[in-house]
Amino acid sequence: MNSPTPGAPIQVHQFHALAPGARLIVLGAVHGNETCGTQGIQAVMKRFEQGTLKLIRGSLTLVPITNPLAYAKATREGERNLNRDFRPAVVIEQNEDRIANVLAPLLQQHDALLDLHSFTSQGEPFVFLGPRNNSGPLEPFGLAAQEEALAQAMGLKRVVFGWLEAFAQGVARRTALGVTGSMINTHIAYGIGTTEFMRSVGGYAITVECGNHADPQAPAIAEQSLLRALGHLGLIDSPAPPAIDHEVLELIEVQDRAHTDDVFFRPWQSFDRVKAGELIGTRADGTALHAQHSGCIVFPNANAALGREWFYLARDSDRF
Ligand SMILES: [Zn+2]
Repeated sequence: MNSPTPGAPIQVHQFHALAPGARLIVLGAVHGNETCGTQGIQAVMKRFEQGTLKLIRGSLTLVPITNPLAYAKATREGERNLNRDFRPAVVIEQNEDRIANVLAPLLQQHDALLDLHSFTSQGEPFVFLGPRNNSGPLEPFGLAAQEEALAQAMGLKRVVFGWLEAFAQGVARRTALGVTGSMINTHIAYGIGTTEFMRSVGGYAITVECGNHADPQAPAIAEQSLLRALGHLGLIDSPAPPAIDHEVLELIEVQDRAHTDDVFFRPWQSFDRVKAGELIGTRADGTALHAQHSGCIVFPNANAALGREWFYLARDSDRF
């Protein structure tokens, strides 16, 4: 499908201090129905305009509405998920390809990315972090210390990492099973979103999931996250947030729903705790699925389409 007309332009707001420093870019509404980031960014822009906040070092780029088509429709996707297979496109097939062609070079001009999202389930806000330093083939990375420090500066208890490895493991299992069809979960490139792209071009990046889409506190969490990132990077004068004990979770496994009779043992909520050996669900053929480690169920979807992600498992990590 070739998108006949480009969607609305993307508004980008930039502030350049006259002293050198870190270059931070902040995205809101990569998913169009996740408006907390947009509101948080607008609140911070207002503070700069009113003069109650001053950029003292470095530069700040704010993109309140990263996917204007999806935002106008108030849906997650415009023509496809902007946060999958994110890279400059040679062949324009969908509006998100046009967005990636504008956004990718912009990201490359920065050191750090803060991507502000919200989620469907209920629950507390959390931070998504990239991998440990590594030279492996999947997501080689050397800026884990900077990224961890930025994640900790958010002052949010829960931190999750291991997304691309868990996704790639799912791709490998589907490939081994001969699953074909939708490319969405059968190719590793679909695990590449804004933050993975940022790491691949020499930057570092975190995602803050600010709460449920409709949580009235989510815009305030987005604003707080942006202010804390500015303070942490020395772009504004602000006191460090109080140090807290983090709950660090590593995604280690994804299971797909293979049959309509694959059923959960109980109606799991995202981040419900599980102990090693605990029963999670039962396959249609009677196979019981148990947790291999103590940790959490993440993103359970009892009604997942067949062949799509049913749930992820995360284990407790001592990374920090
Ligand atoms: Zn999102």
